Amino acid sequence: MKIIDGKAIAATIRAELKEKIEKLPEKPGLAVVLVGSDPASQIYVRNKIKACAEVGILSYSYELPDSCSQKDLEDLLDELAKAKNIHGILLQLPLPKGFDEEVAMSKIPTEKDVDGFSAENLGKLVLHEEKTVACTPLGVMQIFKREGIELEGKNAVVLGRSNTVGKPMALLLLNANATVSVCHSKTRNLKEICRNADILVSAIGKPKFVKADMVKDGAVVIDVGINRDENGKLCGDIDFENVKEKASYITPVPGGVGPMTIAMLMYNTYVAARKE
Ligand code: NAP
Repeated sequence: MKIIDGKAIAATIRAELKEKIEKLPEKPGLAVVLVGSDPASQIYVRNKIKACAEVGILSYSYELPDSCSQKDLEDLLDELAKAKNIHGILLQLPLPKGFDEEVAMSKIPTEKDVDGFSAENLGKLVLHEEKTVACTPLGVMQIFKREGIELEGKNAVVLGRSNTVGKPMALLLLNANATVSVCHSKTRNLKEICRNADILVSAIGKPKFVKADMVKDGAVVIDVGINRDENGKLCGDIDFENVKEKASYITPVPGGVGPMTIAMLMYNTYVAARKE
């Protein structure tokens, strides 16, 4: 069994990107927009800004108070959409209650949608003509690639069907010629489906939901979940201590998929700047 060191893979990717970015005629610019004072979002934003500095991306941070209006947010996004020095716009989600996320997101032009959440970017993924792909599933694909994990012909099971993680993950696996099942809260016989997985990716947000008896011997187990356990400690969707005895590869939480997501945001911003 191998515990995948997502932190180390992400550091390698950032180092590779730094070299590539140094060769660009203009430094890439990423606008990071945060609305409100959610502590988890503030930490995510801080980590993203730190990663930008490390790879040579100029980050521009915009913090709007909870009291700002939808129009204030949309006006800012319109301005950033036009700004020549901004190649990527990241709107930290979720927005506070009362904001229309879909309308706000639609203000981000596809070429600056470094999160890969726009309808056009998702549509391109469906067509297997990938443009900008959502950072978390893209990060998981990098893990497979860099660990030499074959996907073709494998049974892959994705737990979760969100537009930002589960669905793009399933499509990427399908495009890589895996045979893919997607499970969600209405799935019957979830345990049996999971037991058939050569590759199991969990993105449901339930602490330690996936137990050892749901995992096939030798499966590759990828944990996207970020949760708190009963003691308030960070944990994933996978019951790591028990599942690791059965898996051939497994990602820990923290230190698995999380750092890869930020590395892929840097990658998507680099690509957006390079396209100029
Ligand atoms: P989400 O939008 O809440 O979606 C959760 C999905 O899980 C839904 O499709 C839901 O099914 C399904 N689900 C919930 N309970 C289930 C159950 N008991 N059995 C089967 N399926 C179930 O969440 P998300 O944004 O995709 O995020 C998922 C997790 O990943 C969260 O813990 C989040 O914090 C984490 N995350 C991590 C990263 C990272 O960088 N590591 C990035 C993004 C998200 P229905 O569709 O039927 O409701």
